[in-house]
Amino acid sequence: MKKYSKEEWESICRRCGKCCLIKLEDENTGEVYYTNVICRYFDEEKMCCSVYDKRCELVPTCLKLSPDNVDKLSWMPKTCAYRELFENKQPIKTTVKGRVISEKAVKEEDLEDHIVDWEDL
Ligand code: SF4
Ligand code: SF4
Repeated sequence: MKKYSKEEWESICRRCGKCCLIKLEDENTGEVYYTNVICRYFDEEKMCCSVYDKRCELVPTCLKLSPDNVDKLSWMPKTCAYRELFENKQPIKTTVKGRVISEKAVKEEDLEDHIVDWEDL
């Protein structure tokens, strides 16, 4: 794989916010469902993480993508810029802006009501 500097690697991200959506996993089937609820640390106005340097400490499930773990891409939305690049797909440049609600405003038991089936995930 091509070598990327830190800046080059970071610049691939389109800040679409889709990887920051809360996901639910069916315990029986293992199937993963996206919701329109977004991580409490996502700043929808600036379209970025508000705790970027501490994200993995504050949110242990937050995946820090790097050239060394691109095999984890299958956990990312299909339209993530990294997946599109490494899977040679046409880019779909949509974002979550205006379509999400913060995790801070949703009770955990209500998350199921927020499952979405967006085509661009
Ligand atoms: S901590 Fe930041 S990068 Fe991680 S899911 Fe939340 S908003 Fe996204
Ligand atoms: S889904 Fe991919 S392109 Fe979108 S914000 Fe996350 S890492 Fe960046």
